[in-house]
Amino acid sequence: MQSFKMLVGGTLVDGANSMDVINPATEEVLATCPRADTKQLDQAVAAAKAAFPAWSNTSIADRQRALNKMADKIEAHAADLSRLLTQEQGKPLDNAAAEIEGTVAWFRHFAAQDLEATVIEETEERRIEGQHRPLGVVAAITPWNFPIILMAFKIPPALLAGNTVVLKPAPTTPLSTLMFAELVHDLVPPGVLNVITDANDLGSALTAHPDVKKISFTGSTATGKKVMESAASGLKRFSLELGGNDACIVLDDVDPQTIAPTVFQHAFQNSGQVCIAIKRVYAPTSIYDELCDALGELARQAIVGDGLEQGTQFGPVQNKMQFEKVQGFLDDAEENGTIVAGGDVPEGPGYFIPPTIVRDIKDGTKLVDDEQFGPVLPIIEYSDAEDALAAANASPYGLGGSIWSNDIDRAYELASRMDSGTVWINNHTELSPGVPFAGAKQSGFGIELAAEGLAEFTQLHVVHVPLR
Ligand code: ADP
Repeated sequence: MQSFKMLVGGTLVDGANSMDVINPATEEVLATCPRADTKQLDQAVAAAKAAFPAWSNTSIADRQRALNKMADKIEAHAADLSRLLTQEQGKPLDNAAAEIEGTVAWFRHFAAQDLEATVIEETEERRIEGQHRPLGVVAAITPWNFPIILMAFKIPPALLAGNTVVLKPAPTTPLSTLMFAELVHDLVPPGVLNVITDANDLGSALTAHPDVKKISFTGSTATGKKVMESAASGLKRFSLELGGNDACIVLDDVDPQTIAPTVFQHAFQNSGQVCIAIKRVYAPTSIYDELCDALGELARQAIVGDGLEQGTQFGPVQNKMQFEKVQGFLDDAEENGTIVAGGDVPEGPGYFIPPTIVRDIKDGTKLVDDEQFGPVLPIIEYSDAEDALAAANASPYGLGGSIWSNDIDRAYELASRMDSGTVWINNHTELSPGVPFAGAKQSGFGIELAAEGLAEFTQLHVVHVPLR
């Protein structure tokens, strides 16, 4: 069995304790992995703090070079990383490979950015410029749905800006992050990047640590609120990418057969465990039956299985807790709607739930109002697009959303009134490192990616310079 170590102060170390990591497709132990205690957490933060003065004084060219070397290293080990990611997370191997490929692109994107001072005002008398100074130790906390690419939302911009980092992955998917740590550990000076793993018990100690100056968190809204609380006492900077309940509003001019495969993919990829997946579909009466039938047919054809098996399109739900939670949504679907396809959970082993399409369900039910984060999709009938938009906007979440129409002007008008951080027209879930990503309402706080996201890893430092 492969062994895994944490990275603390430049050294690969064992945990004070260890824990098992389960393959969700087989429910067998995939590997044992280190489990840090609070002493090791303190050591990681202390190492990051000690490394900060020198790292923040390196040239940006040095830091860009380090990020490119990390990208090269990830790329060179893409096959092993993908396989491990599939085994611990559950996603099909080609999806895991795409995640690793995206990670390489994300690192390269940030390696190509700079942080030059901007001139805010320049006259004969004075120049005022905005410099971007690093913050110090960044705590980067990632979830279990996309452990590697979500790490790449945080580590490259944090390091490029001159910060040092303590990274903590989720306890059910720590292995690919530990492999990443081992691959890149000697590409930056000791202490610049630290990686610790826990059993879901160190997050609050890390975020509350007085030497952590910025928290970059991706996870659930409930945990995000706790992070916000622990940031308060030290007035720490923080960015939160949280849950969503993205609505997809289909207008009456589309051909349901044409859009169904794309809508299906954006709802069920990664078995629905995507913060910006389509989580509810609003369809007009005129095409409601046809769309439900088309999505149902796709669900029946879907190949669900172990992500390592060739041909698998959808893997298991990632962990037991989520598996049980999603079954609660299936119960709600049976009670308050009609299951068109899917719905039967096979006997184990493996946390498998087939893609499930639910019709005749209304706003106000658990499946429509709450975030299912799994492969169960409600289709809600509407007669007036304004009502669908109002229902979409009534959610406390506001991460993404989409409008589907052949009439782009009409779609654009509705999209502009959708209360979410991102809206797509005839698309969904697409992100790229140069486009800012932010959640409205209870889906987040702050911005990730692009220049705006990079700026959040810095303190704006305004310098007034007299010119005579
Ligand atoms: P889920 O409930 O789906 O597991 P979480 O939002 O709780 O999602 O988990 C996302 C990440 O946050 C994980 O790495 C987890 O260990 C970490 N975490 C859990 N509790 C806390 C906390 N109180 N403060 C900071 N991070 C936490």
